[in-house]
Amino acid sequence: MNLKGIGMTSQRTRDRLVQRLRDQGIVDERILDIIMSTPRHAFIDEALAHRAYEDTALPIGFNQTISQPYIVARMTEVLLAAGPLRRVLEVGTGSGYQTAILAPLVEKIYTVERIAGLLERANTRFKLLGLRNVQSRHADGTMGWPDRGPFDGILVTASPRVVPDELLTQLAPGGRMVVPVGQSNHQELRLICKSEEGITSEVLELVRFVPLLGGKS
Ligand code: SAH
Repeated sequence: MNLKGIGMTSQRTRDRLVQRLRDQGIVDERILDIIMSTPRHAFIDEALAHRAYEDTALPIGFNQTISQPYIVARMTEVLLAAGPLRRVLEVGTGSGYQTAILAPLVEKIYTVERIAGLLERANTRFKLLGLRNVQSRHADGTMGWPDRGPFDGILVTASPRVVPDELLTQLAPGGRMVVPVGQSNHQELRLICKSEEGITSEVLELVRFVPLLGGKS
């Protein structure tokens, strides 16, 4: 993996990406700074590296995709909007890009991926980038990560038809979950908040994610 960049264009294309995210309404400067300094090309195959700073999802093998930078920024911003988070669960590590963007902003991230081949590569990237507050697990994230919960934040980067009960259970009181819910042609990005009075759910926007699947491979 090449962390050095793909030539002189790299910084300029990152500037352009961050400007695009600003234009789309991302305002949290911490997130924009991290996106600016994170080498997204290191999270995808070299053959696609020249497209790494486009605001688009790209294939990462195993029929999966690295999320679109705007969606990564938006989900991170919404998750953090009520204040700092200590323990966060991410379901769907994928390339590890979303993990790498969120990691500097929280105390600890527990990330779960069901495809071993993707998780291995993501773990290599976490080491190379020196991310020390990430713990990962090869498992079906539909079940959450019971012995690491409860979590102040849960970020789901694959789409369930309905929010799994286990994830709701592992959300701490006062906790926030950002999750794309629905079927392949119509998914709603939702913010779910848990309080003493109960659970609220707010639709943020329409999105398109790969499905949350059961089991591991
Ligand atoms: N955040 C990732 C997005 C990857 S796509 C990135 O930026 O690269 C969603 C990922 O969720 C895929 O890697 C897929 O394998 C994973 N996934 C789907 N169902 C899952 C499940 N039940 N448990 C854990 N991971 C799951």
